[in-house]
Amino acid sequence: MKESEKRTEKKLGWFRETYKKIAESRKKIEVPDGLWTRCTNCSEIIYNKNLEENLRVCPKCGYHFHLRARKRIEITLDANSFVEHDFELSSDNPLDFPGYEEKISASKEITGLNEAAVTGEGKIGGRYIFLGITDFEFIGGSMGSVVGERITCLVEKALKEKVPLVLISGSGGGARMQEGVFSLMQMAKTSAAIAEFKRSGGLYVSLLTHPTMGGVMASFASRGDIILAEPGALLGFAGPRVIKQTIKQHIPQSFQRSESLLSHGMIDLVVNRKEMRPTLIKILNLLLPE
Ligand SMILES: [Zn+2]
Repeated sequence: MKESEKRTEKKLGWFRETYKKIAESRKKIEVPDGLWTRCTNCSEIIYNKNLEENLRVCPKCGYHFHLRARKRIEITLDANSFVEHDFELSSDNPLDFPGYEEKISASKEITGLNEAAVTGEGKIGGRYIFLGITDFEFIGGSMGSVVGERITCLVEKALKEKVPLVLISGSGGGARMQEGVFSLMQMAKTSAAIAEFKRSGGLYVSLLTHPTMGGVMASFASRGDIILAEPGALLGFAGPRVIKQTIKQHIPQSFQRSESLLSHGMIDLVVNRKEMRPTLIKILNLLLPE
């Protein structure tokens, strides 16, 4: 290479590097609050109105953002058919855990819910069902006494009235540690209620959303007759970080994701959010033709 060509190549290299740095710094520019959201998966900047219209699924890569419990009811059930149960139940602080009451108050304010689970009855495709949803935004959707009690009451009512049950989990928090053993007890309580419901011939469809972990996954969420999941959801007991630290081995990116669980036979179907309502209707019609 001639001396002049070397110089040109050097300059071009400098330009390329500088351009790359500028492009990267532009990517890092903060997105103003309230108007835009940066996709967690592909970094696309999405206009919030478009994101909401797309049911909080990234239009570019299909990443499924958290969906609040009320919105979930709205997109799942027939319009205005939902009647809420057990709204009056509220959390106590049985262990006097420091800061727990403040956490509950803050979560109430942020979410407009009074606990991490909303339960009730409604119609889907004209069919009567009992529906329970855990909301990740309320202390990670974790299961304390109230969540456990609401789910158990719902299952018992579904059993009594012989109505299909649909539970939608979004519980990264698993069992709620601030309630200690009272929280762990809810795993056995909800599981026992579901076992009874299934023994009586009831149909239970469980829908897992990102993330469903710990005590929720190890109790009612994994006990569906049919288990559906949203794409890319993290589903498991201990999280990948804890497992990695324990076994001291590399863990693949796909580990504990919906698609991986499907290929290992742990779940029955991965369904896009937009297809969830028609899929639920189809399953109910297939399994309960009347
Ligand atoms: Zn995206």
